[in-house]
Amino acid sequence: MISLAQSAHKFARQILHIAPVMLWRKLVPKTELGFCYHIVSDCPVPHIKHYRVLNTATFESDLDYLHGRFEFITYGQLVQRRASTNRIRDNSVILTFDDGFAECATVVAPLLRRHGLSCVFFVITNLIDNQVIFRESAASLCIEAIVQMPFEQVESIAAELALGTRLRPTPGAALPEPTTLPLEVADLGPELDPRLLPLLHWLLQLSASEEGLVGRLLARLGVDSRSYLQKAQPYLTTEQIRQLHADGFVIGAHSCSHRRLQDLPRADAEHEIVESCRIIRNITGQTTVPFAFPYFGGGLDRSWLAQLREQHDFIGLFFDTDGLREDEPFVVQRIFGERFSRDRTLDAILRRAWARRSAWPRRGRP
Ligand SMILES: [Zn+2]
Repeated sequence: MISLAQSAHKFARQILHIAPVMLWRKLVPKTELGFCYHIVSDCPVPHIKHYRVLNTATFESDLDYLHGRFEFITYGQLVQRRASTNRIRDNSVILTFDDGFAECATVVAPLLRRHGLSCVFFVITNLIDNQVIFRESAASLCIEAIVQMPFEQVESIAAELALGTRLRPTPGAALPEPTTLPLEVADLGPELDPRLLPLLHWLLQLSASEEGLVGRLLARLGVDSRSYLQKAQPYLTTEQIRQLHADGFVIGAHSCSHRRLQDLPRADAEHEIVESCRIIRNITGQTTVPFAFPYFGGGLDRSWLAQLREQHDFIGLFFDTDGLREDEPFVVQRIFGERFSRDRTLDAILRRAWARRSAWPRRGRP
């Protein structure tokens, strides 16, 4: 039974969620509002099922929304602000894109240039020049192939690769609903055979250790990842990165292999940060390279991160994805611009982020 305290808490949260952005920006002003996007495209993107692909109209409406309410700042301005002891809190917007998809160069950059806006593009360095397929892309291509196959064929392939258990829900657990994350994000349509849901759910939440397995599944499903990479060129090339930098955009690193740094031994996590920043510095000639944590940076020791920046002066600010959380001066938090939850507008996403207790300044902080 829900207690009175729980009901009161829920009610208070609902009230906070409907408080308008105009109120939040005055009551809880932020140094900056960081936004994290992945891809914008008006064409179908078969290698992306893990997040909702925004079309150009939606992204432009986000820009219009932000333009009417806030100032935009560049990465350089943000660095200055973060270095200052007297922090300006005027809710300025910094735009960023993670994962380094080719659309950053072909769709996003031209659109931002038309709006006179700057941005940081965070690149997974192993993917530069399309030599290997990202495991999330491989999983998405598996899903594309699976949903077009008769169930019995999928069943036989899964059995062959000892993946039969992935077709059965975990004992005791309910069958995943097509409306729950991440299946809702993948938007697999009403025709989907519900017997596929456990397998698709697994593919959408694949861990880094299952990379080899998903590669074998992709090949067995008849998808040649090499020719897909050559034809689709899903990730940025060295040349595109150089051009983006020449056009005034900042290029950041997003690790070498996009594994959760929290799961790696400290030395490997350090390598992911330092090497990816070094690679981006060598391509662009930037003196410093900002770094965005793969997935999220919660649980990573901030004093260790500070030490890394001291040891390697080319590591710029760190970027995380915990909404509007207050963090160290060298860690910039960001809100996902994609519509992951029931919030369908940027206004709703912002209100929800501002309503979280972690967004409010802690006592004694500038
Ligand atoms: Zn990422």
